[in-house]
Amino acid sequence: SLEGRTALITGSTSGIGAAIASRMAAAGANIVLNGFGDADEIESQRSGLERDHGVEAIFIEKDLSVGSESSALVREASERLGDPDILVNNAGIQHVAPVEEFPPETWEKLLAICLHSAFYTVAAAIPAMKRKNWGRIINIASAQGLVASPYKSAYNAAKHGLIGFTKSVALEVAETGITSNAICPGYVRTPLVEGQVADQAKAHNMSEKDVIRDVILAVQPNKRFVEPEEIGDFAVFLAGETGRSFCGAALPIDGGWTAR
Ligand code: NAD
Repeated sequence: SLEGRTALITGSTSGIGAAIASRMAAAGANIVLNGFGDADEIESQRSGLERDHGVEAIFIEKDLSVGSESSALVREASERLGDPDILVNNAGIQHVAPVEEFPPETWEKLLAICLHSAFYTVAAAIPAMKRKNWGRIINIASAQGLVASPYKSAYNAAKHGLIGFTKSVALEVAETGITSNAICPGYVRTPLVEGQVADQAKAHNMSEKDVIRDVILAVQPNKRFVEPEEIGDFAVFLAGETGRSFCGAALPIDGGWTAR
């Protein structure tokens, strides 16, 4: 159970982050939501967590492509709901382009959101975790943090970097009650990926079922998407006492992507 814990999940207004927030709330944690989106939808997500799970949930909007906003997110969470016991760095974006055509400002932004932000939030959150001698840092990397794909140079660099960062922090706090680990999902069915399925089906003149099997999941041997809730449940496992001996691990949930 995560009762009495406060969990801050970046990028939790959609997809994987929203599922982690929901599963952690179901396990009893108070929740700090962050991300972009429609204000009414975010408010109904927030109040839904409180209503369905009897926990406290707040929303803090910060742009995590800016270092000072990542630090401010942790500070504001501490002031309003208490120091985060569980920090999940999940916010992320993707961009696909050959390296020589990769827009430099997109490279900088992707690295800022997917990698640098984790440095700022962890640096801000860890002093209170050390005082309590308890904490969980969970970084959402990717199968693409362990192996690469063409045209995803920024994403591969950021996610490989995030795993290195995860390990270094884990070693720094190894003798405390704090752990730092990375989850490495394969393709997860989120709004982002659903859009790609529809677009590819049109572009290739194929059925959505065939696109999923032969285009999108060409790299994923089990030929099905990971569901966001599976990542949520595993994050709850890592965040509980069950996760106390994981130290600097990069843990694939990828249907076999990195097994071959
Ligand atoms: P998503 O687009 O559904 O959600 C991304 C979240 O990040 C949203 O809440 C969005 O508002 C937020 N966000 C984006 N830019 C932000 C910024 N500048 N500041 C604050 N918040 C910002 O995507 P998702 O598929 O749920 O991805 C979540 C994480 O999981 C990402 O780090 C992604 O790289 C990783 N991941 C996704 C997959 C997949 O197949 N979907 C696979 C492996 C890893």
